Amino acid sequence: MTSHVLLKAKDTAPTGLVDPFGRRVSYLRLSVTDRCDLRCTYCMAENMKFLPRKDLLTLEELDQVASAFIGRGVRKLRITGGEPLVRRDVMELIESLSRHLQSGALDELTLTTNGTQLARFADRLAAAGMKRINVSIDSLDPETYRRITRGGDLSKVLVGIEAAQAAGIKIKLNCVALKQDNLDEIPAMIAWAHERDMDFTLIEAMPMGDISEDRYDQFVSLAEIRANLERDWTLETSSHLTGGPARYVRVAETGGRIGFITPMSHNFCESCNRVRLTCTGQLYPCLGQDNMTDLRAVLRADNDESLDAAIDRAIGIKPKGHDFDISRQGQSPSVARFMSTTGG
Ligand code: SAM
Ligand code: SF4
Repeated sequence: MTSHVLLKAKDTAPTGLVDPFGRRVSYLRLSVTDRCDLRCTYCMAENMKFLPRKDLLTLEELDQVASAFIGRGVRKLRITGGEPLVRRDVMELIESLSRHLQSGALDELTLTTNGTQLARFADRLAAAGMKRINVSIDSLDPETYRRITRGGDLSKVLVGIEAAQAAGIKIKLNCVALKQDNLDEIPAMIAWAHERDMDFTLIEAMPMGDISEDRYDQFVSLAEIRANLERDWTLETSSHLTGGPARYVRVAETGGRIGFITPMSHNFCESCNRVRLTCTGQLYPCLGQDNMTDLRAVLRADNDESLDAAIDRAIGIKPKGHDFDISRQGQSPSVARFMSTTGG
């Protein structure tokens, strides 16, 4: 697999990817599965139907597409899902892709995970060159965690976080702000994270997929949370950037950072540098729009379009931005697919 992919990467012209609005695409999120061992209420329906395995890109195909993007100037690659660590042999893919770190073609190879399997994989992830990962955790109360995730066991995640830290991996926690579930707990979660040397990023819930719950009842603006935090803490503007959409502040009292991802209350599309590949090979240039390019069809068809040409086509349709809306009038999801399908 490796030599074939390397040849392909070398064959591509070293031209960067720039979208129609002049934004350089330097960050690829690669979803390796739509499956997950949890069913977070804001992310999935209770009875999710998962894709047939034959529809998924093989590890070789995932490697081929990721390597083609790296050949075109992508410097940051995030493995996501679904839950990436439930895909069998995912470590093989990660270990193979780590050659791009060694060659200097990639600045960062990273992961977003729910943390339930981290204890098993922490050492191998560190050995593959992962220096920082994101772990999603929406409550530190076992019962609330179980409710939000529809059955998850918080203790597994806590053990996973410890294992990753012991392996030398820096962790950022991701937390979706949910009005009815974790709003009151957020300051204590931030303090807990900062005591353990973890940054903490808050995310506004986005209307993706039909989750059979009322998103309006769960939505809370991060501006509201920030105002609450400012009653107890001094939030200093931070220039810290990670190549993603979060805007950071430093808490003077704890020395830790809080990130705010505010797709709903403050659109960040003007600086978007990202595209997402689903586990079935569809390249979505925008999380919040439906237009996409089917790269699997290009990989599996015997037609003449090269992967490189298809990637150019895909970047050429990157829209200016999303139009997410959660309001009493806008109950239906803005995009039909689930976050777990596109890769968060
Ligand atoms: N399973 C992994 C995890 O939970 O970290 C990776 C995939 S998950 C789809 C990636 C991130 O998207 C998680 O932090 C999750 O909380 C977030 N997410 C999922 N659905 C969302 C939604 N509708 N709005 C906002 N964030 C969402
Ligand atoms: Fe699974 Fe992550 Fe979605 Fe939760 S947010 S259901 S852990 S994919």
